Amino acid sequence: MSIIQNPPCITSDPQPAGLYIHIPFCLRKCPYCDFYSITDLSLQTAFLDALTSEMNMTRELDKEFDTLYIGGGTPSVLDIKTIDTIIKTAHQCFNILSKPEVTLEVNPGTVTLEQLKGYRQAGVNRINMGVQSFNSTNLDFLARIHSAKDAKMAIKWAQKAGYENIGLDLIYGIPGQTTSSWLKDLHSTVEFHPQHLSCYMLSFESGTPMHHSLQNRVFNPLPEHLVCEFFETTQSFLNANGYIQYEISNFAQEVIDESGFKSAQSNLSRHNLKYWNFFTTIGIGPSAHSFIEPQRFWNHSNIKKYIQELSTGRLPRAGKESLSQEQLMIEAVYLGLRQAKGIVVDAFDKKFGVDFKALFTGVITDLEEKGLVKMFQNRCALTAKGMLYLDSIAVMFI
Ligand code: SF4
Repeated sequence: MSIIQNPPCITSDPQPAGLYIHIPFCLRKCPYCDFYSITDLSLQTAFLDALTSEMNMTRELDKEFDTLYIGGGTPSVLDIKTIDTIIKTAHQCFNILSKPEVTLEVNPGTVTLEQLKGYRQAGVNRINMGVQSFNSTNLDFLARIHSAKDAKMAIKWAQKAGYENIGLDLIYGIPGQTTSSWLKDLHSTVEFHPQHLSCYMLSFESGTPMHHSLQNRVFNPLPEHLVCEFFETTQSFLNANGYIQYEISNFAQEVIDESGFKSAQSNLSRHNLKYWNFFTTIGIGPSAHSFIEPQRFWNHSNIKKYIQELSTGRLPRAGKESLSQEQLMIEAVYLGLRQAKGIVVDAFDKKFGVDFKALFTGVITDLEEKGLVKMFQNRCALTAKGMLYLDSIAVMFI
């Protein structure tokens, strides 16, 4: 028996909040990446001072937090002492509950066994590693700094260092990739029995060097039908190997829980669930976003501007918006459909004062007939096939 007991899709606080810290450094920029980071590590000290100031100025002691996610960029370019300081400062400035999920994003090309052990002693209990592929041609295309061998070694080190919650990121849809080479990547991945897997479709974000190369026909993207085939291969292979797809790109390993049931609950990314379920999230660092319903606000991306604002005693806010009920409803549909548990109809009706089934009866019937959406246990969710068409289905609801 499989059980996924995510919290309800839409809920109001007092669910614990999540704290995100953005480390804006990478050893080299990957051409497909549109996250904010720089390769000039000389700004580390000034950045850390600014980060400490931002945490002290933000505080938010009235909120309880149960996750801390240190992402980026490449947080593993920072040494153990620095990560230790960041975690200690977060505990001083925020009300972090006992047994929080503390995740550190790691690039396999930047860590040693000693480092991973040190991070664990500093309080990190979950590693999220950007493996992307075990195939050297793919890694070259993505211009990753690490080899397949480095990735395998880093996973083994993380296990040896005692982490019991390891997430691996993979990318599919890479030009030149075949179904069999993607399957080989999936096989190599499950051999390590990671607790969590994120499988992302390669996207060509505007403004990235890879998007520029695509426009200049430096390479040919894979045909859409092949990328769809990879998505279906991912779902069926990981399901057959004990992983539950709980979000469109995210899979958690099933384990036998204390009651003797098979459950993936303990292996879900607690932090990422907050983004998909309207919980409060506070983002610290350049480009970091925060959400306290109905407000969203975000920081300057430019690190120099970020440091400068904090050095003059100002929070480094670049913008904010207040989401209308209509905008929140659109997000609730989109975020609900991303998740396997779907939109929780009762909660949706209560929150927005509408009758979801009556409002969308035509769309739901049509999509049910096409096998793209299913209604079950007071929920409306995409089928495995429907997940392929998330964007166009969400537009039909909107
Ligand atoms: S290492 Fe990660 S954050 Fe840095 S450029 Fe590459 S994909 Fe982006």
